Formats: sequence, structure tokens, C-alpha cells
Amino acid sequence: MDAKTEKSNLIEGATGAWEMVIGLEVHAQVSSESKLFSGASTEFGGEPNSHVSLVDAAMPGMLPVINEGCIAQAIRTGLGLKAQINLTSVFDRKNYFYPDLPQGYQISQFKDPIVGEGEVIVDLLSGERVIVGIERLHLEQDAGKSLHDQHPQFSYVDLNRSGVALMEIVSRPDIRSSEQARAYVSKVRTILRYLGTCDGNMEEGSLRADVNVSVRRPGEELGTRCEIKNVNSIRFIGQAIEYEARRQIEILEDGGKIDQQTRLFDAKTGETRAMRSKEEAHDYRYFPDPDLLPLELSQEFVDGIAASLPELPDEKRARFIADYGLTPYDADVLVAERESVDYFEAVAKGRDAKQAANWVINELFGRLNKEGVNVVDSPVSADQLGSIVDLIKANTISGKIAKDVFDIAWTEGGDPAEIVEARGLKQVTDTGAIKKAVDDVIAANPEKVEQAKEKPAMVGWFVGQVMKATQGKASPQAVNELLKAKLGI
Ligand code: ADP
Ligand code: MG
Repeated sequence: MDAKTEKSNLIEGATGAWEMVIGLEVHAQVSSESKLFSGASTEFGGEPNSHVSLVDAAMPGMLPVINEGCIAQAIRTGLGLKAQINLTSVFDRKNYFYPDLPQGYQISQFKDPIVGEGEVIVDLLSGERVIVGIERLHLEQDAGKSLHDQHPQFSYVDLNRSGVALMEIVSRPDIRSSEQARAYVSKVRTILRYLGTCDGNMEEGSLRADVNVSVRRPGEELGTRCEIKNVNSIRFIGQAIEYEARRQIEILEDGGKIDQQTRLFDAKTGETRAMRSKEEAHDYRYFPDPDLLPLELSQEFVDGIAASLPELPDEKRARFIADYGLTPYDADVLVAERESVDYFEAVAKGRDAKQAANWVINELFGRLNKEGVNVVDSPVSADQLGSIVDLIKANTISGKIAKDVFDIAWTEGGDPAEIVEARGLKQVTDTGAIKKAVDDVIAANPEKVEQAKEKPAMVGWFVGQVMKATQGKASPQAVNELLKAKLGI
């Protein structure tokens, strides 16, 4: 059994255990102002055919000119995937006929991609870590879009996307469960967003995946795979894999054979269905595009990009655990989105990072999730949350009051220190006042005092009473100590 095979990932069939094997081809739209070989805009939306140059429309005699910005983005991504950058790569023509592909071929990279082998570290909720190999990353053009629902007799075509740069990131068949597949795509998306090389927006189609699935008996050779095309949400990727693996197991257990097919996922039914089989597969007749020279990169160009990479999620995670003492789970939650981690680091700067993490994860993220607000639109800024943490640290307010201050800052805005001042929320540190509250509570509850002497855990009840009497403003620690002294426990 190979090292990646966890017993818990196996599927129990009627005739014994099966293992799924998954490899993903992620198509990521390059963040760039203009297209891969033309100056037309890549902006999403817009009137049909308003972002189309003569090159994108494949007018006769037009010549593609490589966009240096897109090349830099592919290299940046390759470096982020810890991958080999190939100083020489070649653009090929992949020939096929499609109504929304006016050239009659797609310019892609086949034998010599710009990025070679790399790897992605995937940490699962269970604490399990899987390393997924990257086979390659190549650049290619996106196609246009046929519109069949605009006119009863005709189909229309919108070429706005035609020629937009895509990166195809091909994984090795290293993935063994739908959970791993989902976590892998999330991780790739996180890395792309840290790098700023793809916005990762799956609703707009900036990130989608072809999902290759096969099954086998644990430890045996790879089985025949089926490829599910163009799955555009992480949830659907998981569903497609679960359905497809079970479909294949059923066929095999009935004594059948898997036909290597391209399949489609139907989000309405959660099923996959056949699109074409291997026999019907295209013969793409790849050959180097004679309009483009091989792409030659200098090592200095690559080094310059390497020097400008931001700190990536794996390094941040490791630093948060080692330097800040955060749990792996908290570190994962914080690093998952670049905006979240920026917010956290702004709060943590110069403060107790563990406390900052607690406030960001529990109070802030909790509230953002509940109200469906994105962290960049948070009504409570990192500065405001930072001041709340400072107020707790300085013993100006208790943790409990801090939650009220957070709520006021969220709903009404304002500087936390001023909120505390204006509403008289300051913690009572004046022991005279606390002493008085303690004495009052003890005097009013003689029988409880007797009980507490028998059962020291009763002190909690007294703390509660004193906190109530001081409207939560007494320092709980001071109250506790005083009570224990007075009750002699
Ligand atoms: P194609 O152009 O036919 O899609 P690629 O090489 O681009 O071929 O992609 C193949 C993908 O299929 C890779 O992600 C690879 O990991 C995956 N793969 C290859 N063999 C298997 C298999 N037996 N089971 C599952 N996935 C596989
Ligand atoms: Mg493929």
C-alpha cells in the first residue's frame, strides 16, 4: 500500500475495499489587463464582443504577440508552486474545430511547458498532510462562448474571453479522496490569490477544474480514468468525485470494464454522464506555432520575480505556529485568505498574537460569517479591534465587556477607548469598590456562605453575584481572590 493511502479513505464495495485515485487539471485565468497575444481587455462582463481585437477574432494575416505580463504571472505561479521554471518553452497549435474558437486551433503549450514539476502541501482538518505533486503548468488561450438562447434560429458567439490567458496546472494522480481534492483546490486557489496571479473567482469561471478519477484495489496498478470536464465549484468537485468513483466501482464489481471517457457533471442531479469516449477523442495534431518563436527567458528575469514573491501560506502558517504559538487549526483558518491574514497581522502587530488570533477568529470571523460580510468590508477595522485587545491587556475592560464594546463598534462605529469612556464601561480596579460589593453579597447570603465553606466550587456563584452587582465591570480575577480570602477557602 502506498504511503498516501489511509485506510479511512478506502471505499467498501460489495467485493472488498477500493481506493480512488484522482488527478486534477486546474484552469486558472491569469490576472492581467490584456490578453495572452493581444492588447484587448480581459475585463469580466461587458457587452458581447466589446473586448475583441482582430487577433482574437482570428482575422486573416493577424499575428500574435506574446504578453510579457502574462509570462511573468506564469513564472510567479510556478515559483509559488515550488516548481521548476523552464527557461525555454514552446507555444504549439492544438487543432480542433469549435464554433467559439475562430482560429480553428488553440495556442497552448504541449511538450515544452513554461513550468515543470512542483508540489503543493495540503493540510486537512484531521491534521493529515498530503503532498500533491505538480506535473506541469502551461499557458494557453481561453476560447469564446456560444450563446444558444438569444434567437430562435441562430446561435450567437461572444468572443470577449477568446484569447484570455489561462494557466493549466496539472497535478499528479496523488489525491486519494474527495476531501483531499477539495482541500487541494482550495490550497491552489489560496496560493494563486496570495501571488495575485489569478483572482480565484469560481463563480465567474476564473478557476475551474477537469477532474480525473479512477479506482483500484489498494496497492494495485492505476485503473482506467474518466475525466470530468470543467467543474466550477469546490463543492461540485467533491460531489463529482464521490459519484464517479462509486459508478466505476459498481461497473467493476459487476464484472465490467471502465471505458476511458470524458464526462460532464450535472450539478442538478449530482451525477456525471458520458460526453465522449477515448475512440472519439480529438486528434489535436499539435505542432509548434510558426507565428511564435520559442520563448527564451533569462535567469535574471526569473530571479527578479522570485525576489518579489510575498510570504506564502505555508511559510506564514509555520511562522504563526512556531513564533506565535498558534494551533495548526487556527493558523490554517487565518492563512486561508490573504485578506484575512492581512487583517490578523495588522491586529497582531506589537500585541499578544494569540489573543489577537482569538479575537479575529472567534469574534470577528464569527460575526462576519453570521452576517455574510467579507473581511475587507468589516465594519470593525483592524485598528479598532487592536484597540479593544489593548484595552483588555491594560485591564481597562474585562473580556466580557470587550465583547460589548466590539458589538457597539460593529453596529455604531467609534473608537473603542472612547466608547469605554463615554459609557462608563471601565473595569473597576478600585479594590475599595470591589470589596464593598463582595461584603454586600456575603452579608446578604449567610446560608450560601456556609455551603461554600463545605464546597469551595460555590465561589463561582459569588463571583457571578459580584459581577452582576458591578455591571460586569469588576476585574473577575480580583473578585475571585477577594472572595476566597473572605470566605476562607
Ligand atoms: P489529458 O490531456 O489527457 O487530460 P493530462 O496529462 O493533461 O492528460 O492530464 C492527465 C491528468 O489525469 C493528470 O492530472 C493526471 O494526474 C491524471 N491521471 C492520470 N492517470 C490517472 C489515473 N489512472 N487515475 C486518475 N487520474 C489520473
Ligand atoms: Mg485533460
